[in-house]
Amino acid sequence: MLKKNAPQNNASKNKEQQENQNQLALQNSTDQLKKIRSALRALRDAVILLNDDDGLEWWNQAAEDLLLLQSADHGESIFDFINVPEFRQYYHNKITANDGVHMKSWRDPNRYLKCELTPFGDEKLLIIYDVTRLQHLEQMRRDFVANVSHELRTPLTVLMGYLENFSDQEDMPRQWRRGFELMTQQTARMNRVVNDLLLLSRIEIEETHELHYIDMTKLLTHVYDDAQAYNQEYGHTLHLQIDTYDGLYGSEMYLNSALSNLVINAIKYTPKGGNIIISWAKTTDGCRFAVTDNGIGIAPEHIARLTERFYRVDSGRSRATGGTGLGLAIVKHVLYQYDTTLQIESSEGRGSTFSAIFSTAKTCSPP
Ligand code: ADP
Repeated sequence: MLKKNAPQNNASKNKEQQENQNQLALQNSTDQLKKIRSALRALRDAVILLNDDDGLEWWNQAAEDLLLLQSADHGESIFDFINVPEFRQYYHNKITANDGVHMKSWRDPNRYLKCELTPFGDEKLLIIYDVTRLQHLEQMRRDFVANVSHELRTPLTVLMGYLENFSDQEDMPRQWRRGFELMTQQTARMNRVVNDLLLLSRIEIEETHELHYIDMTKLLTHVYDDAQAYNQEYGHTLHLQIDTYDGLYGSEMYLNSALSNLVINAIKYTPKGGNIIISWAKTTDGCRFAVTDNGIGIAPEHIARLTERFYRVDSGRSRATGGTGLGLAIVKHVLYQYDTTLQIESSEGRGSTFSAIFSTAKTCSPP
């Protein structure tokens, strides 16, 4: 009798064991989910889950405090709570921001926020960070650099003036002449660094610029003429190819500095007798500015860092050609104003192309 019932008992025992295991697994998952939720709730950054209709699906306490959310807001559009143009553009991929979008808080102008969106499936995870402290530190850094550069300007002008006067003296003892030459060279270099730092600070500080129509044909002809003067000791052949009359809206002075920097670099970093092409042409997305040289080129590992302040591939060569190491940083910041970035293609020993595409939103036909 006992023997006959054994398989049945075993089967029900197994079933029971399986059920217990399932129960345990479910309990574990529920516990973990609870933990994740409470961790997300405890986060000081606002976390919001958005559905495929941009509606609010889930949020944590920080999001509730920041956006003044209530449970009745479930399903409401995120744009009813964050009505900031930069956010809208970022959300709809109109601006490329790998690092999220930074903006002033719409409720408290002294607070700065960073929104970062991560799509997964049809939904999106939005994280909003309070970056006020970072923003203040960044502001302190900018102010410090601007103040130091400004303070150095007057002493440098006085030094340069006296050095020039002394160097002009015919009866200066020979043993001093070399010393004076070096002092004059180094003071001029310091002056270039200070001027570039001041220019960078101005570009960074001025958030809004007066926008003017920029006649690109005129501006590029000007850049080309200046470059020809600089080119005299290098003897390159410079070509200017303008294939469109389209211009840009922006600040002419800054754009002139940026494009000149790219052209002067092409001249500096190309062995004598090279070929340099400066071009402005229409593309499907807007207009493209490019400078191509057949110079020394750049090894791939340096390319990503070239726009950092004072980054040089070969600091000896940069200094010898009068470089400050700030040229490409200036270019990067000027291009920000046009919502575009610097593209660098280069092959060591063969040459480089530095280019930027200005979208149709920034270009325009002559008035
Ligand atoms: P610098 O004043 O040293 O020229 P930049 O910021 O203008 O500073 O450029 C940074 C570095 O990028 C340069 O030191 C140089 O090594 C490299 N570089 C820039 N343009 C070119 C180019 N056309 N060809 C090769 N290297 C370049």
